[in-house]
Amino acid sequence: MRRGSLSFAAVAVAMTAMAVPVAVPSVVAQTPRRVALVGGQLITGYEVPPIHHAAILIEGNTIVAAGPASDVKIPADARIVDTSGRTMMPGLIETHAHLITLGHGNYATWFPWIAAHGGDQKLRQVMETAAKELLWAGVTTAVDLGAPLQPSLDIRDRINKGEIMGPHMLVSGPWISRGQGGPMQDGFGGVNVSTPQEAAAQVEKLAAAGVDTIKAHAGLMAEDYRAIVKAAHAHGLKVQAHVYAEGDTHNALEAGIDILTHVGSAGTAPPYSPELIRDIVNAGRPVVVTAAHRSWIYPDTAAFPERLQNPILKQLYPPDIYDEIQNSLKNWWTLPYFARTDREMLYRERGVKQFIESGAVMGMGTDSGTPMNFHSEALWREVKVHVDMGMTPSRAIGAATRVNAQIIGKGRETGTIEPGKHADIIVVDGNPLFDIVALSRVEMVIKDGAIAVHNRLR
Ligand SMILES: [Zn+2]
Ligand SMILES: [Zn+2]
Repeated sequence: MRRGSLSFAAVAVAMTAMAVPVAVPSVVAQTPRRVALVGGQLITGYEVPPIHHAAILIEGNTIVAAGPASDVKIPADARIVDTSGRTMMPGLIETHAHLITLGHGNYATWFPWIAAHGGDQKLRQVMETAAKELLWAGVTTAVDLGAPLQPSLDIRDRINKGEIMGPHMLVSGPWISRGQGGPMQDGFGGVNVSTPQEAAAQVEKLAAAGVDTIKAHAGLMAEDYRAIVKAAHAHGLKVQAHVYAEGDTHNALEAGIDILTHVGSAGTAPPYSPELIRDIVNAGRPVVVTAAHRSWIYPDTAAFPERLQNPILKQLYPPDIYDEIQNSLKNWWTLPYFARTDREMLYRERGVKQFIESGAVMGMGTDSGTPMNFHSEALWREVKVHVDMGMTPSRAIGAATRVNAQIIGKGRETGTIEPGKHADIIVVDGNPLFDIVALSRVEMVIKDGAIAVHNRLR
């Protein structure tokens, strides 16, 4: 294998053949100190027209120049990647992923299956697979919002050390909730509290362990949210609240929760009252709708069930995991996870449009890993739904890059293509401003200046 030009597919196949997916070859590519991407269209992440026939110059892990190719001076020793006819843009950011699931249909059987097939070791293999899948899809930064603590911290740290491939990870570890139970809560490692003091103590514990963010799950009281926000902000941690119902969303907003996630994705509620929307917009509080999971994925799968056998899944997943997931999805329309989806579909358009049309600060996140919501396609599907519901492609791309970086607290480092930012860049086939599904055709992924994935581009 030539160093630095290892194709991602080749790595995946080699790993499957060895059946030891933990021992990843040096996929964090040996990239020369200077790399220049030259020729393609450049979308910077800002809501301005793209730059045509552009170039990006990377030194080490940093972007040092970006603009029309005629303006960017390329040093003689730079490795040149010809991006002619394609689009260069910031790496995608996923604000709501679940690395411990891979699209399996049923939490009630998935977590016991993991326990019966190696337990902690299998769980880590699943998380590594998810991280690889996200990176393959062009996600260079992701937030995991709910998983057992130590495996979450370990996967983040191992990616940072270059031992395994994956996006920059921010992890919440276990979510905090009240009175929840059942296989989902158990599997995701959710922690129940019964007083605001306990909620704050839980935040202290997670902060001391080194998490990057806090997830406040459903069932919490207004005073719990306040206690969680106060404790988290004291440690410089942002809080994401998992909220659907109007009352919960109102409480989370009032308490100063940093990101309202799931809002507007139907679930238990029809569209929100105009008063609540107005308060969210006036507060400038970011929302992440997670629109596509369930209410778009269900009918889209009915229309094209072949998507469940997308060849990339077989390529990336260890064979036993692939088989278990395929088995779980055989009669996917009967799964309890989708029991309310017919009702949710009645609200789905209004649920998304209420925020788009109000001018709310909108990020993008997908709940990737949930049933049929594969990490390799969740984000482009989410972006497509927003575009279909009236968001301009430029705003939708900005949401999945620049806005996402800002709302998770990484706006200084990533999310746009401009000098000084980390070189987290993807190259896609075609023009996503014309056809947003071009985001599903990622040809190259550069993370921190290193070429991490190349599907077709060299
Ligand atoms: Zn959630
Ligand atoms: Zn979630």
